[in-house]
Amino acid sequence: MPGFADRLNGIAISASAAMTDKATALKAEGIRVISLSSGEPDFPTPPHVVEAAVEAARGGDTKYPPQSGKHALKKAVQNKFLRENNLDYALDEILIANGGKQIIFDAIMATCNTGDEVVLPTPYWISYADQARLAGASVVQVPCKAENGFSLRAEDLDRAITERTKWVILNFPNNPSGACCSRADMEAIAAVLLKYPDVWIMTDDIYEHLVYDDFKFCTIAEVEPRLKDRVLTVNGVSKAYAMTGWRVGYCGGPKNLVAAMNNMQGQSTSGINTIAQAAAVAALEGPQDFLKDRAREYQTRRDLVVDLLNAIPNIYCHKPQGAFYVYADIGACMNKVSAAGRVIATDTDFVMGLLEEQQVATVQGTAYGMSPFFRISYATDVETLREGCDRIAKFVGGLK
Ligand code: PLP
Repeated sequence: MPGFADRLNGIAISASAAMTDKATALKAEGIRVISLSSGEPDFPTPPHVVEAAVEAARGGDTKYPPQSGKHALKKAVQNKFLRENNLDYALDEILIANGGKQIIFDAIMATCNTGDEVVLPTPYWISYADQARLAGASVVQVPCKAENGFSLRAEDLDRAITERTKWVILNFPNNPSGACCSRADMEAIAAVLLKYPDVWIMTDDIYEHLVYDDFKFCTIAEVEPRLKDRVLTVNGVSKAYAMTGWRVGYCGGPKNLVAAMNNMQGQSTSGINTIAQAAAVAALEGPQDFLKDRAREYQTRRDLVVDLLNAIPNIYCHKPQGAFYVYADIGACMNKVSAAGRVIATDTDFVMGLLEEQQVATVQGTAYGMSPFFRISYATDVETLREGCDRIAKFVGGLK
């Protein structure tokens, strides 16, 4: 049989996608599964955004776009960075890609050589690690402990950086922990990064608009302008505008880095879908008020899920200030046996048991580099969340 590339060795398929697939297969058998694994808003894409796409398609905006993005979208991104983040990027410092995921892929592939290190505050979104490995780099974890609210301590970051460090990747609000980074903490992190002029800094701000309790989001290039010439500010429309399927991500960064990323993208996908670009312009330039309404709704759901989980003996759940995830500690459930006789030795055993015995889909902490935890996405309606937590309580209550 023909073989496969060595670079795929050790690259797993996304655990949340795998769990969503399992849940879908069970649903296809007619089983009622509660899906709390998927990282996507349950809200619809706003109608004015859909309308802009229809108009673009009808109007003939259907030809190859410029590789780095259409002028109108790059202008909209430029305005967004200025308006919301106080960041001034020239148009040749902006790149549009197929989702934030491709922006990150372009950046890592365009910069990492074998033996380089990518520093990841942990827990982290799994794709950073797998993309780094695909590029031949290795991952250096910096634990962000639950007892510190999963926040990144500047001194821990400092200890992790070596002469092989190519990137430090920041992601606050964080997937999976929901942790946010205050301005004071960001200043301390920036002070560390100023000491290492040969390190690129990526900030993945995709959950920027999903913050609660009046938390004020900040991003590192704005907090410390002296870092701006080595910061890549990554964002996208997926989470804020409920546009996961449109596949539009963008970034602002130094011109030479963005040019290298554009070169990388030119040999894979070229410029992205024109109709999705028109939709993204409408999202970024249109009304923004509904973002706050949606954030309020997420905050209500967060409060519900945190309260329900903390009422379950042997689960402890920190209350996060952003994103739409909770990352609950299940250390006290380890080495117990489920009602169906499954030994719970790891968080993977826990989520598999929960799926098979109570039909609730969640994601194991192992997928995010910190165990034993499990991630729940609360981007779903209150009734489903209540039933999900009820079933989790039954599963945990049955552990002996
Ligand atoms: N960054 C983080 C932290 C995410 O959780 C995700 C999606 O789950 C992405 C980036 C990618 O988003 P997209 O490619 O849809 O823009």
